[in-house]
Amino acid sequence: MISGTNSIGYTSSKKGKVTFKTFNPKENKNTEWTFYEATSNEIDDAVELATNAFKVYKHISGLRKAEFLEEIATEIEALGDELINTYCKESGLPEGRARGERGRTMGQLRAFANVLKEGSWVEAVIEKAQPNREPMPKSDIRKMLFPLGPVVVFGASNFPLAFSTAGGDTASALAAGCPVIVKSHPMHAGTGELVSSAIIKAAEKTGMPNGVFSNLNSSGIEVGQQLVKHPKVKAVGFTGSINGGTALYKLANERDEPIPVFAEMGSINPVVILPSALENDSDAWATKYASSITMGAGQFCTNPGLVLGIKGEKLNGFINKLSEEILKLEPTCMLHPNIHAKYQEGKKELSGQNGVTVTANYEKDTNENTAQPSILKVSGADFLANTKLHKEVFGPFSVVVTCENVTELENILNHLEGQLTGTILGSEDDLEKHTNVVDALQSRVGRLLFNGVPTGVEVCSSMVHGGPFPASTDARFTSVGTSAIKRWVRPVSFQDWPNKLLPQALQDENPLKITRLIEGVYSKN
Ligand code: NAP
Repeated sequence: MISGTNSIGYTSSKKGKVTFKTFNPKENKNTEWTFYEATSNEIDDAVELATNAFKVYKHISGLRKAEFLEEIATEIEALGDELINTYCKESGLPEGRARGERGRTMGQLRAFANVLKEGSWVEAVIEKAQPNREPMPKSDIRKMLFPLGPVVVFGASNFPLAFSTAGGDTASALAAGCPVIVKSHPMHAGTGELVSSAIIKAAEKTGMPNGVFSNLNSSGIEVGQQLVKHPKVKAVGFTGSINGGTALYKLANERDEPIPVFAEMGSINPVVILPSALENDSDAWATKYASSITMGAGQFCTNPGLVLGIKGEKLNGFINKLSEEILKLEPTCMLHPNIHAKYQEGKKELSGQNGVTVTANYEKDTNENTAQPSILKVSGADFLANTKLHKEVFGPFSVVVTCENVTELENILNHLEGQLTGTILGSEDDLEKHTNVVDALQSRVGRLLFNGVPTGVEVCSSMVHGGPFPASTDARFTSVGTSAIKRWVRPVSFQDWPNKLLPQALQDENPLKITRLIEGVYSKN
């Protein structure tokens, strides 16, 4: 049952007078639930509780934390159809997507549990003392990773489960040993409350300290800002707009004690279509890309918003086929009227830019909040001259750039902002002949794809979902996959520390049986 309350650790709380409702975009009306915005005191209480919980939680073993994460997955599943129905109501997304995203969310939690059970993620390094070293003896020095402290997570609008309350940010922070306070996304606060109840049940069942998790409601930016400014908060995870992520990043850097903000923001995910792809597979790629651009109403951070090719009949053929195919697909509902309005605004602005031709624009009648797909075409010179064309339009939309030649294509790649992904369509021979293009693309992105579509992000240890700014605020990290745990930790060295008083991961006997770097050699000894 959704009550609209905040969860301050194990306690439900609704001290505030400000309330808001979530919205059903398919039916174009408010949902039945009312949510209580967290007050300033409730925010303080949640952070205070998290700070106290951290003192205990950071010492809890990897095996017990793994049990906690696995139990969260079990409790999420136990929410059954109530979770699926609430998700669909609040997002307008179909049931299949809800079930898929729930599976992915549970899979992520279990993947982090496995990382904890294996244990080597703490990166233990041991270098023993050399008392006889000349001219100076060397101390015994050992290091490993430790959790930062309470983390604030901002749920994403476009993934109510996998990037929200118990999503990748929360799962990785809890795995690292950091208590989490979620600033629930106001578009799916009901979904958030249900998932939050599952996390709290799991915490109680597995004996985690009160305050290891809190969930706060808000419909404006104030709650998030107070959380980021709170001196006892030690890091922030965010997925959303460039404006939102950048504002929080600046706020965190203006604190007396600046803290890291790992924001995953906008990206237009350039796709380079090389000669052999146009020669041999043009129609097949056009059909695949029509689906990729419109998937989930284009509301994916990896949506291909930019296609680059060398001008000519072959590229025109690709653009015509892409335009034809995209108009055949049934348009779908967007997450919220605000997101729909922003999509319409962005599409209109870019369509009116100098040199732009609209090659497809869905014009049949659709329901309210439904996104009508569109494809634009522009020359390389006009694209280079106008950075408005380089901005993300969040929705089923893409710009195809017809470049004069490979040099111009490479120049355009060098002028793009940082991106999550970059894709090359062509042959291996094309790749070998266009090493400058590949290098230029690699310098702008976190993930390179060959002959594929960027939508669909595998959750695995080798995934990088991040990239140079503004794709993310720190290109050294990923927000998807098990390496995401590395955002919430810092290394600490122990010099000449007594063996029995070292953390177990650093003790001579290796009681955890983890892989460690000992005198430069990886070993379980
Ligand atoms: P958003 O506007 O960035 O909001 C995300 C979260 O951050 C919300 O909880 C929001 O709080 C909070 N927030 C935003 N600005 C803030 C600020 N200055 N200070 C404190 N908190 C702040 O993103 P959204 O609501 O998910 O979607 C809006 C637009 O973001 C979309 O139309 C799209 O353009 C973009 N977007 C991009 C991606 C991507 O992966 N590339 C993903 C999602 C969205 P409140 O809502 O309570 O104000």
